[in-house]
Amino acid sequence: MIFDLHCDTISRIYENGGKLEENNYHISEKKMLKAGSLAQFFAMFVDMGSVDDPYLTCNEMMDVFDSEVAKSNLINKVTSSDDINTSNINAILTIEEGGVIKGDMDKLIHFYNRGVRSIVLTWNYENEIGYPNYKFIHQHKGLKPFGIEVVKKMNELGMLVDVSHLSDGGFYDCIKYSTKPIIASHSNARSICGHPRNMTDDMILKLRDKGGVMGMNFCSAFLDGSNLSKVSSIVEHIKYIRDLAGIDVIALGTDFDGIGCELEISDFSKMDMLRVALEKEGFNKEEIEKIYYKNALRVYKEVVKK
Ligand SMILES: [Zn+2]
Repeated sequence: MIFDLHCDTISRIYENGGKLEENNYHISEKKMLKAGSLAQFFAMFVDMGSVDDPYLTCNEMMDVFDSEVAKSNLINKVTSSDDINTSNINAILTIEEGGVIKGDMDKLIHFYNRGVRSIVLTWNYENEIGYPNYKFIHQHKGLKPFGIEVVKKMNELGMLVDVSHLSDGGFYDCIKYSTKPIIASHSNARSICGHPRNMTDDMILKLRDKGGVMGMNFCSAFLDGSNLSKVSSIVEHIKYIRDLAGIDVIALGTDFDGIGCELEISDFSKMDMLRVALEKEGFNKEEIEKIYYKNALRVYKEVVKK
């Protein structure tokens, strides 16, 4: 089974058309079925630099998500932790860009009511919540006062605070103010690949102490800076993080349909390639299951309400 904490497939379908059932993208129902998907976070990724009204665009994307999921007998939209069912692919609605709420707590509640259970607080732009880690320009800036209120409200509602893309200072504020585990849905280890999207050793340890997880991102820029996403590079990050912080902090956040590099794991149907590579490196069954779905499921169940 697989619990993947990040993909941009719905944004692709929204922009370029196609169906969730089967398509030429990295993720489809058929590919998820083949790979053994248990749960998939579907991010509504909104690029604030290219849309007029991010709130409106995000809602339109959710309409696409809802209609694609409604067509499927296999994919089930889940909004509570009790809904996760092993005979379905459990689809969880998330947002990548907290700017879609435009500094308005009522809009956060609106999205909660539409089923959103996790928000990546920033993408690559500053917004009302905080600052991105884009090119390290705002590395040490923390959350804005509204951002601290958003974290508290998300705790109260039962939504996962996602710190991928956020400034390092914002990350530490999430650690400080969140009363629940937080996630970095699609970020790797900065000691292995020094990209601002990745996490320092100290951040990984703090994330672990908070009970959270980080999803391994398959984008080569965050693996080794090359143009090819190699299975061996993903394994290298996993080994490093395990040795640093233990197995319980590691999950998967493929970033499929949000990345343009060449990929050895060329789509979701080939997810078993990573499992095989981990076995060769001596990872046992329990460790691999924790990485593939158990750790993410643990955090989801702890934060999202029944
Ligand atoms: Zn992203």
